[in-house]
Amino acid sequence: MGVRENVQKIKERIERACERAGRDPGEVSILAASKTRTPEEIREVFEAGIRLFGENRVQEARDKIPLLSDLSIEWHMIGHLQRNKVKYAVNLFDVVESLDSKELADELEKRLSKVGKRMRVFIEVKLSPEETKHGCSPEEALELAKYVLSLEHLKLEGLMTVPPYFEDLELVRPYFRKLREIRDNLEDALGVNLPHLSMGMSHDFEVAVEEGATIVRIGTAIFGLRNY
Ligand SMILES: *Cc1c(COP(=O)(O)O)cnc(C)c1O
Repeated sequence: MGVRENVQKIKERIERACERAGRDPGEVSILAASKTRTPEEIREVFEAGIRLFGENRVQEARDKIPLLSDLSIEWHMIGHLQRNKVKYAVNLFDVVESLDSKELADELEKRLSKVGKRMRVFIEVKLSPEETKHGCSPEEALELAKYVLSLEHLKLEGLMTVPPYFEDLELVRPYFRKLREIRDNLEDALGVNLPHLSMGMSHDFEVAVEEGATIVRIGTAIFGLRNY
C-alpha cells in the first residue's frame, strides 16, 4: 500500500475512535514521525495531506529540514533534546514536545531570547519506570509547568508521553487517561489552558484518541517498517 492509502486508513480509524468517544475529529491531528525517512519520503507524505512532522534527533533534522524548506511543514521535536543541541533546535523546530527539565527550559529560554523567537512547547511526562524513557515524573510536572509559564520565550501548550508497548491495548489505556488527568489538574492548579495531548503511536493511536489525544505521532503505519 502507498502512503496515501495509509494516511486515508488512519484518518478513518481516527474518525471512528472520535465517534466512539463523542469527539470532533477536527480536534485530532496526525503527526508523521519521520525519523530515518528520506526527504523524498517526507515529501510524499506531505503530498498526502500531512502537515505536522516529528523528528527525534537534532543532527538528522539539521540534514533534512533545510531540504524541505519549500513545504509549509510544522516541525516538532519529539525525541530527547540535549542541552548542547538547543542552539540548533531553536532554528529548526516550531514545537518542542520533549521538554522535561528546568535546565532544558533555561537553555531554550536563553537561546530563544538571543534569536528573538517564541517557541511552543509541551512537557514530556514519563508515566512508567523504564530507564530508557525520558520525561519528568508526574510529581514534577506541576513545578516544571509553573516554571515554564514564567519564561517569556516559551509558550506551554500541553503534554506529551510515550507509554510502554503493550500487545493488549486495554493495558495502555490507563497511561493515556493519566496524562489527561495530569493535564486537567495543571489547568486547574495554574489557571491556564493546555489544549494539547500528544499521545498514541502506530499500534495504539485509537485508544489515545478515545482518551483525548489531540496529536497522534505515527511512523510505521504511514511510512511502512523502518530500516535502521
Ligand atoms: C518513532 C516514534 C513515534 C512513532 O512510532 P511508530 O510506532 O512508528 O508509529 C512516535 N513517537 C516517538 C517519540 C517516536 O520516537
